Amino acid sequence: MSTTEAAAAAPSAIALYAGRTEGFEARVFAAVRALHSAAARHPGAVVQATSLGAEDMVVTDLIARHRLPIAIGTLDTGALHPQTLALIPLIESRYGVEVEVHRPPAEAVVGFVQRHGDGAMFKSLELRKACCALRKLEPLARMLDGRRAWITGLRREQSLGRGEVPVEDVDAQGRGKFNPLADWSWQDVWYYIATHEVPHNPLHDQFMPSIGCAPCTRAIAVGEDFRAGRWWWEDESAKECGLHVATAQPIETP
Ligand code: SF4
Repeated sequence: MSTTEAAAAAPSAIALYAGRTEGFEARVFAAVRALHSAAARHPGAVVQATSLGAEDMVVTDLIARHRLPIAIGTLDTGALHPQTLALIPLIESRYGVEVEVHRPPAEAVVGFVQRHGDGAMFKSLELRKACCALRKLEPLARMLDGRRAWITGLRREQSLGRGEVPVEDVDAQGRGKFNPLADWSWQDVWYYIATHEVPHNPLHDQFMPSIGCAPCTRAIAVGEDFRAGRWWWEDESAKECGLHVATAQPIETP
């Protein structure tokens, strides 16, 4: 079977994952309350940093549905799948909002690739983290500059390292960091997407629950961990790009 045929034959993520579980409405209510709180306490200074993944699409829908004064921003690392990038105009047309797109400096990316090659991330953990610092952390810092709070789609269930994620947090720079879906399950996310017909990345329908840059994301097999398709060649403990580490790290690009 070809890749295209396999993709066509795969069941949709909604069919695979969506499920109504006890307390769903209460979790939606609490998520909206957290978003309202962020907007009210930091007027005009809150941004949703969306990865355009399933959780973040839910958060964007909640923000738009409740007309909350929260900006929407994303990072175009220069290495995303076209299916991911296609969600940006879709969000803008569906919700009537502008999505801020923050990119790494082109000359810095070209220089990094010239020095280390297209596959730098596979050569060492140091180079992988340097790539993430260049393509993600620096543009994120620009997105957050002047903002007093940001919103993420982090959930406790996503990984062991995220098992303690609070609904409301403070990042290493002292900004408010709100994780309104912290206690949502994967079933909740897809039940919300199905119920509200929220657009989602078609790669989720191809067994990619967690989607990052194209070179660093693969489909997972039955029984594999949620984030097994991210940086799969690394130890579990290293599997963060630095966007959500608790301690501020200097951004260096060798
Ligand atoms: S996820 Fe991969 S391609 Fe994207 S910034 Fe990190 S190392 Fe680079």
